[in-house]
Amino acid sequence: MAMTDGPHVLVTGGAGYIGSHACKALRGAGYVPVTFDNLVTGWRDAVKFGPLVEGDLQDRAALDAAFATYSPVAVMHFAALSQVGESMQVPGRYWRNNVLGSLNLIEAATAAGCDRFVFSSTCATYGDQDNVVLDENSIQAPINAYGASKRAIEDMLRDFEASNGLRHVIFRYFNVAGADPDAEVGEFHQPETHLVPLMLDAIDGKRDGLTIFGTDYDTPDGTCIRDYVHVCDLVDAHVLGLRWLDEGKGSRVFNLGTGTGFSVREVIDHSAQVTNRAVPVVEGARRPGDCTKLVSGSTRAENELGWKPHRSTMDRMITDAWRWHQTGHYSE
Ligand code: UDP
Repeated sequence: MAMTDGPHVLVTGGAGYIGSHACKALRGAGYVPVTFDNLVTGWRDAVKFGPLVEGDLQDRAALDAAFATYSPVAVMHFAALSQVGESMQVPGRYWRNNVLGSLNLIEAATAAGCDRFVFSSTCATYGDQDNVVLDENSIQAPINAYGASKRAIEDMLRDFEASNGLRHVIFRYFNVAGADPDAEVGEFHQPETHLVPLMLDAIDGKRDGLTIFGTDYDTPDGTCIRDYVHVCDLVDAHVLGLRWLDEGKGSRVFNLGTGTGFSVREVIDHSAQVTNRAVPVVEGARRPGDCTKLVSGSTRAENELGWKPHRSTMDRMITDAWRWHQTGHYSE
């Protein structure tokens, strides 16, 4: 398949976990994904479905050159630092990388006349709102620098829509898990901080054990509750969001979650069942910045985009993550 056929989409962070899956989905939908990535947390090997531009969002000239070379019809913006815990320790990195980098990108896009923008935001923008249904109209009150940086970028998009007509779709992700069922791409962070890959490492002895961050939360089993979405379902929503903009529709915010919450202990139990192995567990302290419960209370994406998160059962996510864990590999 020639890499030049089809409209180009600039995918920042296309060498990362979610971005690489998005590139595969875009390629499957007839677009050519052009990855723009500094390869600090991403992997050259993960860029398989279109060209790679190695560049940093802080480098406006590199961005301008990418827009000039590829004339993308749209931007999908995944590149970001995304660790809640780290964002509490070094918030400046989050404000600089995420917020200033996004400002450069948005200014480069508008200067190039690219007026469609799909943005990875997060349920962390809602913060800790006990017993509140989190839908797109919920108050955004982030409790960590990661969420605050993403909320700032959402505001920036609204301002640039008003000034430059930058139409955008904002996706507020809940927790993302799983991997490409073909194991062409998957989740691999260095260092790893996310629950599912850490747990799979613990299961096959690559780590001593999984530490549960807090067992004294006000939840039925004392551990945090999250709403997990299969990465392939998540990126399907992005393609639908791009079509939404292609059809000339207006800017919109969508939660991407299933509405079902799993506690950390429940995720561990499912993993033990799916892999048929014991999960070595250590009970530890709370991680600063963690919310008690984050579960989406919205079906807007299903109703308006026609999104169907049919792969997002916990067992399917663990099965696909486990397959990738056992067979997939990026060279470091
Ligand atoms: N978690 C945990 N141990 C770990 C990593 C994560 O108990 O080693 C918990 C974490 O406190 C949260 C959930 O697992 O409740 C998901 O965390 P993750 O870092 O995967 O995603 P986040 O919710 O921060 O986006």
